[in-house]
Amino acid sequence: MGMFDYFVGSLKCSTCRNISKTDSSTNMQTKIRSKPQLDEIGVGHPLQVSQSLAEGAGYLTVQQPKLGEVTRLLDIWTCPFCGTPYNWAEIIIQNGVIKDVLAVAKKRESIEQAHFVSDECLLGLAAELGLDYNHIDRHALIQRVLQFL
Ligand SMILES: [Zn+2]
Repeated sequence: MGMFDYFVGSLKCSTCRNISKTDSSTNMQTKIRSKPQLDEIGVGHPLQVSQSLAEGAGYLTVQQPKLGEVTRLLDIWTCPFCGTPYNWAEIIIQNGVIKDVLAVAKKRESIEQAHFVSDECLLGLAAELGLDYNHIDRHALIQRVLQFL
């Protein structure tokens, strides 16, 4: 049993414009499943997401998913072509199945429409913005980063 799985998607790098294969080359690690086993999970794969599962896996809650609506996660990936780290991807889950995995911009709307965001998204951005995030409470990261977007 592995410590994590990989979200996989066809992801376009905003730096070099190349599009990734739908595999673990983007190194988008997630601990969202209760028994991760280094699987590549992407569009069409079943995935149950709840606040307790997400928080236990290192995600912060932006807002609770509403009944009957899609759930959106934000996670980080590394470009397999140019090596740019801390790119953002949105994983959209509907009725317990992954509906889409796509690259998204590091902007306010991406966070505001998400339900759960990997703390690594926020830490990566805080580092890019030059914020002294070591002294920010983990749960205050969302508001702190939003001030700069
Ligand atoms: Zn790239």
